[in-house]
Amino acid sequence: MSSRKIAVFDTTLRDGEQSPGIALQPHEKAELGRRLERLGVDVIEAGFAASSPGDYEGVRAVAREVRTAVVASMCRARRDDVDAAADALAEARRSRLHVVLGTSAIHMERKLGLAPDEVLAQAAWVVAYAKARVDEVEFCCEDATRSDPEFVARVCAAAVRAGADVVNLPDTVGVALPDQYAAFLRAVRARCPELERVALSAHCHDDLGLAAANTLAAVRAGASQVEVTMNGIGERAGNASLEEVVMALRVHGRELGVHTDVDPREIGEASRLVARLTRYAVPRNKAIVGANAFAHESGIHQDGLLKDASTYQFMDPAELGLEMTLPLGKHSGRHAFARACADAGRPLEGAELVAAFTRFKSLADTGRAVTLAELFTKEVAA
Ligand code: MN
Repeated sequence: MSSRKIAVFDTTLRDGEQSPGIALQPHEKAELGRRLERLGVDVIEAGFAASSPGDYEGVRAVAREVRTAVVASMCRARRDDVDAAADALAEARRSRLHVVLGTSAIHMERKLGLAPDEVLAQAAWVVAYAKARVDEVEFCCEDATRSDPEFVARVCAAAVRAGADVVNLPDTVGVALPDQYAAFLRAVRARCPELERVALSAHCHDDLGLAAANTLAAVRAGASQVEVTMNGIGERAGNASLEEVVMALRVHGRELGVHTDVDPREIGEASRLVARLTRYAVPRNKAIVGANAFAHESGIHQDGLLKDASTYQFMDPAELGLEMTLPLGKHSGRHAFARACADAGRPLEGAELVAAFTRFKSLADTGRAVTLAELFTKEVAA
């Protein structure tokens, strides 16, 4: 059966960097660019070149560093924005401009001060202008999910006719539900046959905790590119996270008939580097890359996992460069406790094990983390 390739557009260095307090230096962006390339993403959005001299240098640094991935810069539908982004991308092996123009009534009226026909004309103009300066143009209807699908279809048709290679229809504010987003994309596709000639991209935010779910719904509705960030960092509540979307597509790849080129073994390392350079710690309970994602504390689960890991795991953490852990706590069972003692060089059996386990449980019940070293020291002292 044929499998459809889903391109992974990583925007950790652009939308991810828009998280408050993150200001990656050009050499840090270059290092992250190398890491993302090793991870196997198809496109690296390196920044928004016109936003600051530092970001211009950041985009330039990534463009110089990256060998195989496409390097992109965001820009608005303005000549100076396009020029700055194209200049910053000059040394990229393959360059892409990601041009953003609002299509919702609120964005057109309140932010841009443009009539719909003016937006339509500007879309055609900016795509043609950008196309002459870079290898690829991605056109984005900003706030697409709050726009009229009829109008979005007209803008998309104009952008494709002007030379756009990719059309992005984002849920900019993170308001959509998965079935709504899918229905919106299908409605636009039905009204715009031109879209069949180009890649369709999904870009979702996590304001309702639905970014990954919406992205997957978009894939089912025909999207061929997903815009994601490592660890799900990004504007406000963040973007769809790379590790969640990629692993969901991998775990369910056969039934969805899709695949990506991301190497799951590189996910753990990429996640750690992003956390370190952005100083945004990964929440413990974060899916896939959180410290607890493959930690099993309850006794019933630990007992099952020690017999066969697939009793409570459908992903192999080792395949992600991560580890399964069986932390000891008040919910742990004797089986895992005995294993941990043996691993720590203190094999216990019979009455000795029962006594140590009883003591461990009463300490763990207080709610604090109990280490085996502490337990044995106290045992000796007792
Ligand atoms: Mn965004």
